[in-house]
Amino acid sequence: MGRRLFRAVSRRRQDRVRDLKQLSVEKGAPRDAAPLFFVDLIAHCWQHRLLDSAAAVRASVTSLLLLLFLVPALLRGAGSDSGSTVEWLQDYLRIDSSTPAGAAEAADFLRALLHRHGIATRWLVSPEGRPSLYARLVPEGEVEETVVLLHHTDVVPPGSSWTREPFGGGVEDGTIYGRGAVDDKSLGIAHLWAFLEASKQTHDLTRGLAFLAVTDEETGGAQGSGWLVENHPELFRGVVAVLGEGGMNRIRGGQVVWWGVEVAQKRPLWLQATAIGRPGHGSTLNLHTAPHRLIRGLNRLLDRPLDFRITPEARRYLEAVAPMEPRGFQEAVANMDEIFSHPEPATRLMPGMPSYFLDSIQINGLEAGERLNAAPDQASALIDIRLLPDADEEEFLREIRELVGTDIEFEVLLSAPRSPASPTDTPFFQCLEEVLGQRAPVAPAFIPGITDARYFRQRDIPAYGFSPFMLDGSSLRGIHGPDERIPIEAFQAGVEELERVISGCVME
Ligand SMILES: [Zn+2]
Repeated sequence: MGRRLFRAVSRRRQDRVRDLKQLSVEKGAPRDAAPLFFVDLIAHCWQHRLLDSAAAVRASVTSLLLLLFLVPALLRGAGSDSGSTVEWLQDYLRIDSSTPAGAAEAADFLRALLHRHGIATRWLVSPEGRPSLYARLVPEGEVEETVVLLHHTDVVPPGSSWTREPFGGGVEDGTIYGRGAVDDKSLGIAHLWAFLEASKQTHDLTRGLAFLAVTDEETGGAQGSGWLVENHPELFRGVVAVLGEGGMNRIRGGQVVWWGVEVAQKRPLWLQATAIGRPGHGSTLNLHTAPHRLIRGLNRLLDRPLDFRITPEARRYLEAVAPMEPRGFQEAVANMDEIFSHPEPATRLMPGMPSYFLDSIQINGLEAGERLNAAPDQASALIDIRLLPDADEEEFLREIRELVGTDIEFEVLLSAPRSPASPTDTPFFQCLEEVLGQRAPVAPAFIPGITDARYFRQRDIPAYGFSPFMLDGSSLRGIHGPDERIPIEAFQAGVEELERVISGCVME
């Protein structure tokens, strides 16, 4: 079955690449030009006396009848033929979804696409007015298991330094630019495509398949996934996998070396630190202004000794990928225990590795007075803390409060309770390993970032971060940065990879 499917999808991919090339050449050609071919043919035959006038009339009537049937069919198929995923992504990127209103508009864009394909949807609005879009394909018979395809329509604001239009969806040298090109709109379109393809063969479904677009991921998810699991548990009954963002794949020389399917992640502890002090004139010596108090307290926080430790999640992940990594990486993993008994382990780790082994503290926002010669009465900082899975949040907060003293008050803006890693011994995960394994092995990844997966894991709903795209470092650097982009070829290959996964694990 797998090979037949692989061949069929590959053939479709070739067709699609060919069609896309044509599309770029014939830009502007009407999409429903094909029926006119019949009219042209008849005119041609009549002109060259291949038909007499009566036969030409008969042929014209027949062709007109044909047109009546063909045009609707062609229009129906217009939204889902080859190359349309690229256009969908471009249109999706053109919606500025960095605001709640824009994110809702983006969800509405997807809703319209689903409706155009005859799919019923649910529009679920949180108390703060953030909508989530849900659709489900139900298999025949008594199948209770469902796989949910989850992505978020919201994006972070573009920020400065862009050299392309952040909401233009423009294509340059085979690459699509736009905020959300990687995080997370390309995944959304891949989900949509796989979902629509599956909707044409519901009798082949072995599990239910749901499409879910949420709108509050970048600002914490409390009004999106967090609200849904709390208020619409019926959507997640019998769910064997929520497939969302967060997967990280190793690509070398354009080939995937391993698929990192995220099963565990760090937890957010986002804080606002505020110091209050006596305001006054800048010319007067005042050691206890709000900014001074804040700076002293934050300094103590930054000087806190780093607490390196190896969690089972990090060990399992790094040991799984080490054999496929360069020698330096392999050695670091083989000597993990020895490295962490060293007084300064960070100096012996590869770049990027320390965050897998400690609770990290990053001060990312600072706000105090505006005038140079006046002390403000308040100063504050935004602190992004990421805890390892085994950290005790209450204990951590107690410790840093003790450390900074009474000068600073902390307010918790976002936190997450501990949750188990998603299981890897389930039939669904094994199916993922089987289908993806045709190209490269699957590793159970642990990531230092956070995604909505935590809301599902907290309720024992298995969630997996899976990216079907083979993106190299240069594409990944655009995430939350300037000039976010995805090469069209990588995007289309990912769309097909996801379709393969859904065909292999949700259909027979
Ligand atoms: Zn994201």
